Amino acid sequence: MATLRVAARPAPAPMKVAQISKPGGDIELIEREIPEPGLRQVRIKVKACGVCHSDVVTKEGLFPGIQYPRVPGHEVAGIVDEVGAEVSEWKKGQRVGVGWHGGHDGTCRECRRGDFNSCRNQKICGVSYDGGYQEYMVAPAEALAAIPDSLSDTDAAPLLCAGVTTYNSLRHAGALPGDLVAVQGVGGLGHLGIQWANKFGYKVAAIGRGPENAALAKKLGAHVYIDSQATNAAEALQKLSGAKVILATAPSSKAMSELIDGLGPNGRLMVIGAGPDPIQVTPVQLITPVTRTIQGWAAGTPADSEDTLHFAELSGVRPMIETYPLERTAEAYDRMMSGKAQFRVVLTM
Ligand SMILES: [Zn+2]
Ligand SMILES: [Zn+2]
Repeated sequence: MATLRVAARPAPAPMKVAQISKPGGDIELIEREIPEPGLRQVRIKVKACGVCHSDVVTKEGLFPGIQYPRVPGHEVAGIVDEVGAEVSEWKKGQRVGVGWHGGHDGTCRECRRGDFNSCRNQKICGVSYDGGYQEYMVAPAEALAAIPDSLSDTDAAPLLCAGVTTYNSLRHAGALPGDLVAVQGVGGLGHLGIQWANKFGYKVAAIGRGPENAALAKKLGAHVYIDSQATNAAEALQKLSGAKVILATAPSSKAMSELIDGLGPNGRLMVIGAGPDPIQVTPVQLITPVTRTIQGWAAGTPADSEDTLHFAELSGVRPMIETYPLERTAEAYDRMMSGKAQFRVVLTM
């Protein structure tokens, strides 16, 4: 006697997704089928995703070749939900995250030199493929970072872009313990930069516009607060013998230009806030009376992200966040764009 077998599998449950359907389009909340991970890919059940200013790239179509509809989001924290073929390094149930660095080919000249952050075929999460503004996402296995147990999803998410960008740039900027390090901007990046700088053992000067952030900057670990509206910040840094590093986080090229004279001997302006206008500097300013360097820095590899998360665990550094449910993504994005968030906006699923 043959048993009757039910041929049809139950339809997969749809998931909620916040997508952009065209450059400059609104954020739309829709439902989609849960995606399947392919070769060397991992499916993540997203628990939290930071809303970063760089999501404007996807929202407004600022990079060439973005395919729409596209789901933004590159500060993703969640758990491994399914692994595709030939993935042995990640297991179901493991806590993981994805940042701006969304994958590398492992075969280009830069990758063969071990410089994955400069991969010629680097993928960007939420730009090259759908990111974390959704309940489930699929990412290349090499793009994942493990999240330590002591960090919550909402704390880990912003550390995967804002966190690694500030941590990784600062640890490569050349300052030694006790050196004067200035953090320009007390915002989404700066409030983390001040905390790292303090934990790295630097003498920390926070530079903000107006007096209102002074108390917070000191609470975060600044030893000195410089109000750039009330005083000439470059002169104030020189009175403290000049900065070894200025971590420039606020996307104001004018404000960055005005700080260059605040650098001490062999000082470095580390640029991570991305404004569209030119930074203005004369060659003389870079040569005499002391030599100075201006450098840019972009995020880091997933290994750098893991270093960031481990150091946060070790030192107690945490982002300050405002959370919004996925259903209110458009409102969360507007809040981030307003510049009034204190300080990182994070979606929860
Ligand atoms: Zn970002
Ligand atoms: Zn490569």
